[in-house]
Amino acid sequence: MANQDFLNEINKRRTFAIISHPDAGKTTITEKVLLFGNALQKAGTVKGKKSGQHAKSDWMEMEKDRGISITTSVMQFPYRDALVNLLDTPGHEDFSEDTYRTLTAVDSCLMVIDSAKGVEQRTIKLMEVTRLRDTPIVTFMNKLDRDIRDPIELMDEVEDVLNIACAPITWPIGAGKEFKGVYHLLRDEVILYQNGMGHTIQDSQIIKGLNNPELDQAIGSYAQEIRDEMELVLGASNEFDLDAFLKGELTPVFFGTALGNFGVDHILDGIVQWAPRPQARETDVRVMEPEEPKFSGFVFKIQANMDPKHRDRVAFMRICTGRYEQGMKMHHVRIGKDVNVSDALTFMAGDRNRAEAAYPGDIIGLHNHGTIRIGDTFTQGDKFRYTGIPNFAPEMFRRIRLKDPLKQKQLLKGLVQLSEEGAVQVFRPLDTNDLIVGAVGVLQFEVVVQRLKSEYKVEAIYEAISVATARWVYCDDHKKLDDFKRKCSNNLALDGGDNLTYIAPTMVNLNLSMERYPDIEFAKTREN
Ligand code: GDP
Repeated sequence: MANQDFLNEINKRRTFAIISHPDAGKTTITEKVLLFGNALQKAGTVKGKKSGQHAKSDWMEMEKDRGISITTSVMQFPYRDALVNLLDTPGHEDFSEDTYRTLTAVDSCLMVIDSAKGVEQRTIKLMEVTRLRDTPIVTFMNKLDRDIRDPIELMDEVEDVLNIACAPITWPIGAGKEFKGVYHLLRDEVILYQNGMGHTIQDSQIIKGLNNPELDQAIGSYAQEIRDEMELVLGASNEFDLDAFLKGELTPVFFGTALGNFGVDHILDGIVQWAPRPQARETDVRVMEPEEPKFSGFVFKIQANMDPKHRDRVAFMRICTGRYEQGMKMHHVRIGKDVNVSDALTFMAGDRNRAEAAYPGDIIGLHNHGTIRIGDTFTQGDKFRYTGIPNFAPEMFRRIRLKDPLKQKQLLKGLVQLSEEGAVQVFRPLDTNDLIVGAVGVLQFEVVVQRLKSEYKVEAIYEAISVATARWVYCDDHKKLDDFKRKCSNNLALDGGDNLTYIAPTMVNLNLSMERYPDIEFAKTREN
């Protein structure tokens, strides 16, 4: 492939994820985005509790039952001259670890805010994660067809709470039943809203120029109101600045309604125009630029049983450099072996197609028979490792016990494999034979017991245990570490990957130990 063609493939890719608080409208936006990508003929009703239809991004039965999105799925679609990869993230906080790791595999994020509610708790947490890499953020203020809070106040809240400057790109005219449309500041045009067109791509009526008398004809007294308001808004807000956006310091802000399919194309235009192409990534050796000719990528998620017809595990890999071709040989760096990959999956709008070729920014799915872990790097022979794919310290703990004690080995095997997938974390205390399961959200516990039963044929139950938190412990000084291990052994455990962990019964206990052992690092995250 000619070098220029390869560069063109990289340059046209945009890989992003949506971050939001549950119910802000992520699923609805995903559907409309796919509608624009021509991926769905007609966007179905979200989660279809009423209609029985499901967004194509929802895969697992359990998701359907609960009406929440558990899995991370990947959708690829063309939009204008670009090829967009949208990585779906579970909105439910019980699966936040997967979400966090997915955010390491994107180059930009779309933040969706419910305009009646403003900045909510989960959005704050997700923004913190995007800050680890200064990921550029595009903002969508959703649900303008409802009664919303004052838009200036909403913008101020984003600036104050999330500590990012806002540059309005569109500005709403009216809201709720009186939502008339938006004024596009950069294009100097008003785009009028038509109610009840949510399932189609609208032929929107556009009025050029804020002072155009047609505007007064179209929306009456709202025309003068928006003229007056724009003066105020321009005084109170920032101008869009591409550099500041790319550094994650400023976010372009759009207004609209996902349900009414209004404004979603404005966001997509913004993403295609401004969001970065696949970015360089750090490894333990050096920074890898996407146009490096040799293939490489890292695994950010492993998922089992996405589709009942394929009862295997799929490892999701973000391609960072080079080109993937069907049938190529990849080097699995951690285990030091070459593997033939004949049947990787791509994710064109939710269908699992066979990938012919894939490029930096794309996600491919590798069939995994237990040899792939989260964070693993694959190359074309080189021996480097991508860094920055974190494990997060769990916040909930339970002791897990077998109903049939003879199957202890099988239980341990299942737990270790599930922890390699990131489904749960397992801790084995140094001083006892207990098995402690740690999760970021309570639903993970349930999933683990079900999967132990169906995949490992063991029936396990939980018991309460008084553990408040866990920290991975490190110390370069072996003597100090040994001393610490001796004195604190009843608080120490090994995780699924045999890393030493401090299991704290209370936060007070943790704080005391941190004071007492200042040379020991107590880490909240761990990289594979
Ligand atoms: P998620 O939890 O972030 O994926 O949110 P959903 O997309 O499932 O939306 C949550 C609820 O808000 C659903 O009942 C949607 O129909 C509704 N919703 C989403 N966008 C809009 C909107 O623009 N206007 C109104 N009125 N409702 C919306």
